[in-house]
Amino acid sequence: MANAEYTKEVSTALVEELHSLVDRPIRVMVICGTQTRTLLKYNINDILPDNLEVVSGPGCSICVMPAGHIDAFIKISQQPDVITATCDDLLRVHGSRDSLQSIKAKGAQVEVVDAPMEALDLARKFPDKIVVFTAVGFEGAAPDVAETILEAASEGIDNFCVIPSIRLLPPSLDSLLSAPELNIRGLLCSAHIEAITDTEAYANLARQHHLSCAVAGFGITEIMEGLISIVKQIKSGKPGNQNPYGKETPSKEAIRSQKMLSEVFFAVETDWRGLGSIEGSGFVIRDELSLYDAVKRFNVRFKKGEEEIQCQCADILSGRSTPNECPSFGISCTSRHPVGPCMVAQEGICASYLRYMFGRL
Ligand code: SF4
Repeated sequence: MANAEYTKEVSTALVEELHSLVDRPIRVMVICGTQTRTLLKYNINDILPDNLEVVSGPGCSICVMPAGHIDAFIKISQQPDVITATCDDLLRVHGSRDSLQSIKAKGAQVEVVDAPMEALDLARKFPDKIVVFTAVGFEGAAPDVAETILEAASEGIDNFCVIPSIRLLPPSLDSLLSAPELNIRGLLCSAHIEAITDTEAYANLARQHHLSCAVAGFGITEIMEGLISIVKQIKSGKPGNQNPYGKETPSKEAIRSQKMLSEVFFAVETDWRGLGSIEGSGFVIRDELSLYDAVKRFNVRFKKGEEEIQCQCADILSGRSTPNECPSFGISCTSRHPVGPCMVAQEGICASYLRYMFGRL
C-alpha cells in the first residue's frame, strides 16, 4: 500500500479500543472532505474493524455544484465589462460545455482570489468594471460573504456583486439520511462546520434519524476519537450529538455572524449534484441588497445542465459508491485531466483516493 508508513503514526491504543468496541456492522458517514483526506492519507481503511464501514458524504462544496450552476457562472462571466473573481478550485470544473478556465483562455476576465474581500478590492481598483464574486461554499463560508456585501453597501460600491452559491449541510444530510438503503448510523462532523452552524441542527438530525453524531477536528487522533465516540453511542443505545467543541453560550463572533447572515441571506430550495433539489438548503440574497446579487443583476437563472455521462460523482457524493468503482477513475480521469468535480477539487474524494490510495496524481 502506497502510504503504509502513515498507518504506523496512528495510535495503537485507539485502534485497539475501536476494535474492541465494534461488535456489529456499523456504517458511518464522514461529511467533511478534509477529514476524508486525512483518513485516506493515514490508510485508515486497512486498520478499521471489518464491521465498521466509513463512507464519504457531500462535504466538498465545489463537488456538489451541479453543471447548471457552473453554466450560470460562465454566462455571467461572458458579459461585457465583467471581471469574475473566483477560487482556484472552481476554475477547472466543467459545466455543460465550458469551464471558467476555458472561457478565460478565450478572453473572459477571470481572476483567482482567496477571499471575498479580495474581490471587493478588485472592484475598488477597477471602477469601470463589474466584479462578480462566485460565492461557493458551505455555511462556514457565508459570514465572510455577508460581511463583504455589507461593506460594499455601506461604502456605496456599486460595481461589485456576488453569485450566491452557498449551500447548507444540515438539510442535505437530512435528505441523505432518509434514504434507507444507505443505512447510515453515525455521522462524523468537522469542528469547523459545527463552530458555524447552529449546533441544534445536528442535535435535531441525531434525534430525527436515531443517529450518533460526533464532532471532531482534522487530525487523525481527533478523527479516531470521533469514531470511537460514535460507536460508543450506538452501543449504549443512546445516540446523540457529542461535541467537545460545543459552548454553552455562543461567542460574540458567532452572534455577529448570525446577525450578518440574517441581514444578507435567506434560505431557499437549492439543487445539489448527487442529491437533487433540497428545500431550504441554499442561501440567496435579500431583495433589499439585490444590487449585489449577480443572478438578478444579469437576469440569469440556474437551469438544469448536462452532467458528464461517464462521471459517477453523484453516487460518490451520496455515499452510494467509491471512486475506484468508476470506470474512468485513474484511466481517463486523473488530477491532471479531471473529468468530474470530485477529481478537480482539493477536497474532492476522487483526487484524494488517487493520491493517497494509489500514489498517483
Ligand atoms: Fe467523476 Fe472522475 Fe470521480 Fe469518475 S473518477 S466519479 S469521472 S471525478
